[in-house]
Amino acid sequence: MSKIILTGDRPTGRLHVGHYVGSLKGRVALQNSGIYDKIFIMIADAQALTDNAEQPEKVRQNIIEVALDYLSCGLDPRKSTLLIQSQIPELCELSFYYMNLVTVSRLQRNPTVKSEIQMRNFEASIPVGFFTYPISQAADITAFKATTVPVGEDQLPMIEQTKEIVRKFNSVYGDTLVEPDVLLPDNKACLRLPGIDGKAKMSKSLNNCIYLSDTEEDVRKKVMSMFTDPNHLQVSDPGRVEGNPVFIYLDAFCETDMFAEYLPDYANLDELKAHYTRGGLGDVKVKKFLNKVLQEVLSPIRARRKEWEQNIPAVYEILREGSLAAREVAAQTLSDVKNSMKINYFDDQALITEQAQKYAQ
Ligand code: ATP
Ligand code: MG
Repeated sequence: MSKIILTGDRPTGRLHVGHYVGSLKGRVALQNSGIYDKIFIMIADAQALTDNAEQPEKVRQNIIEVALDYLSCGLDPRKSTLLIQSQIPELCELSFYYMNLVTVSRLQRNPTVKSEIQMRNFEASIPVGFFTYPISQAADITAFKATTVPVGEDQLPMIEQTKEIVRKFNSVYGDTLVEPDVLLPDNKACLRLPGIDGKAKMSKSLNNCIYLSDTEEDVRKKVMSMFTDPNHLQVSDPGRVEGNPVFIYLDAFCETDMFAEYLPDYANLDELKAHYTRGGLGDVKVKKFLNKVLQEVLSPIRARRKEWEQNIPAVYEILREGSLAAREVAAQTLSDVKNSMKINYFDDQALITEQAQKYAQ
């Protein structure tokens, strides 16, 4: 069986370092591994509209931002198909049929949707489209017959929902859809990177992000203002590294050889953590090191972005071509789905003959 990847991001803002470690970096590595037959990377504008219906301009403006972030991180349009969700109308049609296979109570139990509803203060006024986005995500994944979906931990319930739809569809209508597997980052710190404010998740919607496109100075300021252990008041106080975003970021981004270059007093992260834990190490020193680590990771990304920014029409052309190619694949799946559901009346000669015979008697 072919090995196919589908993943993507909502164009609700520029991409941040949480996206980078949670998904983007892994995608680039998978792309370059050469072991996948096809890689589809989707800018999920239709999904973004489910909770931004009144801000279409925000979604529109952020499509190019996400595309620039993709290209600057090393996604390569010669190896990966970059597409815009709304340009593939077949996805809506698939969603509509999958809706019959999912109950309202099953959607209500989805923990990610529950917390996102809370975060957005939707409570009693949840848009139906937002409520059903796990179904549309199942359409995205299955349309490309994806076998692997590399995402951050918050997406696990969506993949679970997709698997259920696939099983249900195949058992009712016959083997048609492919059940995908989730692929999470190996590094625990990358599963759900916290915000610079210490909140559980760095998220475009929470304004607690370090963006891939932030300037060197923005990144420095954000790092120096980061939330740390609130009980670590004096340098001499013992500090906590668990749950401390500065150390979580170091877990996510720091390579051991960066110590020799930027903080040679310590051989590795364990030594730095041990010093912080026993006391005598100030936040400022750790933050200055984290800033250097992040700048090393971000500066090549920033430089590549500058180049692509000079060539915006070419970026739109990449998205246009990718969307066209993706549409062909989705149309084939939709046709398979309709055949399995027997809603292919005009192609079904047996049906026409059967009905003709019934009335000929
Ligand atoms: P929004 O607030 O609009 O939902 P978001 O920041 O959650 O935006 P998405 O576009 O929903 O970003 O997520 C894109 C991908 O990035 C998903 O695979 C998601 O799991 C991953 N991701 C998002 N935030 C983080 C994070 N803080 N840490 C690790 N992975 C993340
Ligand atoms: Mg999200």
